[in-house]
Amino acid sequence: MARIIRAEAVSPEEGAFNARELFIQAFGYEPEGVWSAPGRVNVIGEHVDYNGGPCLPIALPHRAYLALAPRADRAVRLISPQTADAIDDLDLDSIGPWGGPRQVPSHWTAYIAGVAWALERDGHGPLPGFDAALWSCVPVGGGLSSSAALECATAVAVDEVCGLGLAGSDEGRRLLVDAARAAENEIAGANTGGLDQTASMRCRAGHALALDCRDMSAEPIPFDLASSGLELLVIDTRAKHSLADGQYGQRRADCEEAARLLGVGQLVEVSDLDAAMSALEGHERLARRTRHVVSEIARTRAFIELMGEGPLEGERLDVAALLLDDSHDSLRDDYEVSCAELDVAVAAARAAGAHGARMTGGGFGGCIVALLPHHLVEPVKQHLAANYQARTGLKEEVFVCTAHEGVSVAKEAV
Ligand code: ADP
Ligand code: MG
Repeated sequence: MARIIRAEAVSPEEGAFNARELFIQAFGYEPEGVWSAPGRVNVIGEHVDYNGGPCLPIALPHRAYLALAPRADRAVRLISPQTADAIDDLDLDSIGPWGGPRQVPSHWTAYIAGVAWALERDGHGPLPGFDAALWSCVPVGGGLSSSAALECATAVAVDEVCGLGLAGSDEGRRLLVDAARAAENEIAGANTGGLDQTASMRCRAGHALALDCRDMSAEPIPFDLASSGLELLVIDTRAKHSLADGQYGQRRADCEEAARLLGVGQLVEVSDLDAAMSALEGHERLARRTRHVVSEIARTRAFIELMGEGPLEGERLDVAALLLDDSHDSLRDDYEVSCAELDVAVAAARAAGAHGARMTGGGFGGCIVALLPHHLVEPVKQHLAANYQARTGLKEEVFVCTAHEGVSVAKEAV
């Protein structure tokens, strides 16, 4: 699939316009509305969601826009300019999860049709079929959750056109998150935790979402770096290594095995790291995986606390930088999910003066985040331009990121 090359997000008006135009061009009539959902970047708390730990995502300005209209039958017709010019045709009565008697929808359509399938399975059906046109500016496959963006845009669109009434409350949104996650896990076959969909569905503008993955409770905490003269830079390394999926599954399996040996349900329950290290003697790899998870949970809690104590300045900024740096080093050394490109980008950002830089997302490519004073944005970009490509052969994409709103539940003007 062609990736969107430019890093800037389009405005909500332009995104909605593009989706609507595409819909009319493809289906020959007006959509009922355009709904949108953002990609996300995780500030800290990596590879802990499936261990019951905390994470701290913010919603990106990059969003997936979905123009949609319900149909009188059970057909689902989909189009995205990033896949092919042709319309994909599906049928809600014939799709189902991997390993079952029904058909698994092909590649990208699984993320959309899967949401309708999951809502019906969870008792919110029967649903009508629909026509939908997807126009997204979330970079695809870059670890910024383009997949959750399209699942969540679908969830709120179906919620509204079918009158399910879920998106209006936090409790209802949690059910939509479940459906979006089920689409990804069971229909698209990607065994990810709930971080991405929760961030896209429940983030608030100007806030990061302190998400506790034990019970998926979430608290928005003010995320205003600008008042301290700081920026969060997202650097897409444009690297994507094919081992990512298999390695992700192996890390999850390692964590489950370590939890079993330690006699806990999830690694979040480990309260004494030293004792856990002793108990895992002879299981060197599992001990390192556990050390990452337990220390990352502590770092994330400390970072969230720090954000609540006031502006990131002085000593607090130094502590924040250390937490971000340690997070990366732990992911690289103990969890072994980094790669050369991520390490080069992190080193370049740090060398150019960032107050902490770390890989973000699943790893083996994708993005890093760097915290830095506003006046260093250009120098860091220049430093990267001079060093990253020369060392990796890839051209990075860089954008400054502030915290945006999660799903748009109201119909965009069409
Ligand atoms: P990420 O979520 O980090 O971007 P994933 O591998 O989880 O990466 O999801 C990427 C997949 O989501 C793509 O391969 C494609 O199937 C689907 N996808 C995302 N955005 C679009 C889009 N604009 N058009 C079609 N499919 C998309
Ligand atoms: Mg994804």
